Parts: sequence; structure tokens; C-alpha cells
Amino acid sequence: MTRDELLDLFRRSGALLEGHFRLSSGLHSPGYLQCALVLQHPKHAEALGRAIADRTRDLRPSLVLSPALGGVVIGHEVGRALGVRAIFAERQDGALALRRGFVISETDRVLVIEDVLTTGGSTRETMQVARAAGGQVVGAASLVDRSGGAVRFDVPFAALLEIALPTHEPDQCPLCAQGLPVVKPGSRPVVA
Ligand code: ZN
Repeated sequence: MTRDELLDLFRRSGALLEGHFRLSSGLHSPGYLQCALVLQHPKHAEALGRAIADRTRDLRPSLVLSPALGGVVIGHEVGRALGVRAIFAERQDGALALRRGFVISETDRVLVIEDVLTTGGSTRETMQVARAAGGQVVGAASLVDRSGGAVRFDVPFAALLEIALPTHEPDQCPLCAQGLPVVKPGSRPVVA
């Protein structure tokens, strides 16, 4: 998929909104991203998983590990496309952990899959879960990188789509300065 095709898919499903938004953090932004809205369509989730698999297959992963909840659906689809297990880590007392009987063995080549890379913190923490369990982390990938390319890892990293979405304090927001009305995202349903 090309960048334009990806952007079109995200826009049509409402996963990427452009305008003037008040985020849950209170900050204002010209864009709003919610990957769950594109991933709710199984045909799109499958295609996006296949696209990430095509970018990471050379790493020869034997296992996909994702942080819950955001990474679960896309991790599952990447695992499907690669023909390997897909498991997830989830928060327990504030820290990511393997639960539900999920096992990572010392022979596992682990690929960490996220929906959105923002600071890289949750991808790093997920890698740590894999390493603590004895697995070898061979790479990481996300649907979207909104870090502006600022995040680096000690393993190969790939993102399908890089989108810079700046945020502003309301009193310093250039869109407010232009007098554009601010809206809360997610108030209208969109069908892909
Ligand atoms: Zn504003």
C-alpha cells in the first residue's frame, strides 16, 4: 500500500480526522488519530497486517508480541500474515506482563507490534517483557509513527505510515488564533 492509499483508508474509516480538535488531554491539534476505527473493519485489519508482515518477514520472527489493548488486533493480523503465534502483554499493577498462560521460549524470535508509536515507551516496555521471558527481540513495527522519526530502538523498526500531528496548548493554538471552531473528536460516525 502506498502512503496515499494508507491515508485514504485511515480518512475514510474515520481513523484520521483533520480539522481542529480538543483532545482528551485538553491540548488542541489539527489532527486526530484513532487506529481502532480502521481496525474495526476485518478486511482493513487483515490488509494492514499483511503490509506490516511484508516489511518484517526478513527478520524471520517466530512470534508476535503486542501491548494490550491497542496492539492486540493488529498484532493478531501480523501473526496471521506471517503464519506465527500472536500473543499480548497486559498491565498488571501498572507494569506490562505476560498472563493467560502465554509463553515465550528462548528459541523465540519476537517481533513487537504496536498500533501507534508516540514516545516509544510502550514498545520498549513490551520488548523488555519478551527479553525478561528469555526471547530474542528481532524487530518492532507499528501501523503509525507519530513521533516525527524521533524514536530509535536497538532493533530494526518499521512503520507503515508516518504522520506528524502537532499538539498545542489552547492559549498558543494557531487554529484558535485563526478563529476556527474547536470540536471534540469522535462525535460523528463514519463508514468505510
Ligand atoms: Zn485550538
